[in-house]
Amino acid sequence: MSIAVTEPDAGSDVAAISTRAVADGDEWVINGAKLYITNGVQADWLCLLARTSGDGGYAGMSQIIVPTATPGLEVSRKLDKLGNRSSDTAELSFSDVRVPLANTIGEVGQGFFQQMDQFQHERLIAAYLSVGGMTRALERTITYLRQRRAFGAPLLDNQYVAYRLAELDSELDLLREYSYACAEKMMQNKDVTRQASIAKLIAGRLQRQVADTCIQFHGGVGYMEETWTARYFRDSRLLSIGGGADEVMLRILSRMGAFA
Ligand SMILES: Cc1cc2nc3c(=O)[nH]c(=O)nc-3n(C[C@H](O)[C@H](O)[C@H](O)COP(=O)(O)OP(=O)(O)OC[C@H]3O[C@@H](n4cnc5c(N)ncnc54)[C@H](O)[C@@H]3O)c2cc1C
Repeated sequence: MSIAVTEPDAGSDVAAISTRAVADGDEWVINGAKLYITNGVQADWLCLLARTSGDGGYAGMSQIIVPTATPGLEVSRKLDKLGNRSSDTAELSFSDVRVPLANTIGEVGQGFFQQMDQFQHERLIAAYLSVGGMTRALERTITYLRQRRAFGAPLLDNQYVAYRLAELDSELDLLREYSYACAEKMMQNKDVTRQASIAKLIAGRLQRQVADTCIQFHGGVGYMEETWTARYFRDSRLLSIGGGADEVMLRILSRMGAFA
């Protein structure tokens, strides 16, 4: 399954999408293109966001289930990425793709708002995954620095090294507890837009620092593809871009709370 929202000319600004689904009898006829779609090469079906009326902006979009075997739906390109190479990412094209109107998810015309709701889950899941990854990365780095020696002592004995790792671990602890609090709020069916945006923003930024520090304290071996740090460094970069860039999280936050 893939979430198909982003287009060549519409990424951060979801309201600018132009892929269109037009009702014809009891079917949607879909034309357009989607870009950077995770699992797009191997997915059996897509959750597609498309324009279903002439209303611009946030209005007039719907979510539609599109089986990928439907005639007219093609993988135009399998994309080559910096990281996360174990997951495929695709550009997709739609040329008179026909699916039943019954494949509409939720309400016609409410697609944008439904999609935003899904993004809150996606952003929180991204933050949770990163907390797990950072915890393991710091543990592995500490283990390595206990046994790696320089200047007659384990590297971990250097105050600078230990303090830097303690700093990152402290920030990670805050994020972990914050993430639990977000989950509690979501379980109570409360709006978590602000919390999910904060969690993703902080997680993306912290993960970049953690990945960079892990490579740095491993030295040369950390830069080698044979060491986990290299892949972690490449994979870590995505969190501040995918699922809404850091600046988009800041845009949301600057329009809420004290700013509203
Ligand atoms: C590996 C990968 C997997 C992805 N998977 C999916 C997927 O499965 N489904 C899907 O629909 N999409 C997916 N995406 C798309 C992803 O959500 C978009 O790349 C992301 O939202 C940014 O959009 P864009 O790339 O068009 O960047 P643009 O919108 O062109 O923005 C470029 C940069 O400009 C800055 N920027 C943007 N807006 C503002 C602003 N208001 N203020 C200040 N700065 C700003 C940000 O730094 C941003 O990174 C994926 C992307 C990647 C890289």
